[in-house]
Amino acid sequence: MELWFTENHTKNVRFSVKVTKQLYSGKSDFQSIDVFESPEFGRFLTLDGYMMLTEKDEFIYHEMITHVPMAVHPNARNILVIGGGDGGTVRELLRYDHVENIDLVEIDEQVVEVCRRYLPQTAACLANEDGRIRFFYEDGLKYIRHCEDMYDLIIVDSTDPFGPGEGLFTMEFYGNCFKALHEDGIMVNQHESPFYDEDAYAMQRAHKRIVSSFDMCRVYQAHIPTYPSGHWLFGFATKKYHPLRDFDPERWQALGIKTKYYTTHIHKGAFYVPAYVEDMLKDVEY
Ligand code: SAM
Repeated sequence: MELWFTENHTKNVRFSVKVTKQLYSGKSDFQSIDVFESPEFGRFLTLDGYMMLTEKDEFIYHEMITHVPMAVHPNARNILVIGGGDGGTVRELLRYDHVENIDLVEIDEQVVEVCRRYLPQTAACLANEDGRIRFFYEDGLKYIRHCEDMYDLIIVDSTDPFGPGEGLFTMEFYGNCFKALHEDGIMVNQHESPFYDEDAYAMQRAHKRIVSSFDMCRVYQAHIPTYPSGHWLFGFATKKYHPLRDFDPERWQALGIKTKYYTTHIHKGAFYVPAYVEDMLKDVEY
């Protein structure tokens, strides 16, 4: 008998991946957690039945959510990651020697445990061998209420805007992120997809809220095969640095970080989004 994992991308569109076996299935206080093995994408993690990451394409998401802001901020040393319990974003951040501290605020400790056991490709770094990670198992919405002028960079590596992730797409949350950043801080978030109507609505709503909390917010894109439509956006909200004018490709290249997706050319190109996406963003910017 063949086993398939299927996610509804819309009411009328389904995405299926052939599965060799299910490695883990459990329910935490927050969500259901599953790990599968597949011939095409390797191991993959789903939460409440939604694809979070696969071994084959996670590098795209994690490199783009991390290296874009790290290549703009000249000296991001103290960093907050909200969500991200699979470890992929932390793995990329740890490649920077000048990063001194990463606070990982993940609501669900069970995600971290399961990923450490079944997805070492992203989560092995959470063993924290060099001691730069501090773990906080709590709701990011609550955690950020008490932070002021603390971080150079905040990466919101959350689930979608429903279930436990809902609060991470609110005005309150973005306003508190602004307050938690230093005066030259940057916040990057996973910004959903512009393609299918429901995702596009969530994307526009998040964008509108970020724009009203930050001086400047730009959007950049990447191609992520296992996310709905494959076309994914990230938000780049910033108090001081412009994602292109303050980007110094030579400075980043001099760090010698080897990547599989991110390049300094991709960095520039990613901020040029299609015309229909520009229109969607403009519609909510004023
Ligand atoms: N790359 C992924 C994506 O877009 O599908 C996100 C992956 S990561 C596994 C998302 C994490 O955010 C999950 O582990 C989830 O438990 C965590 N999370 C959801 N809501 C949260 C909240 N309010 N505070 C902190 N972490 C949260």
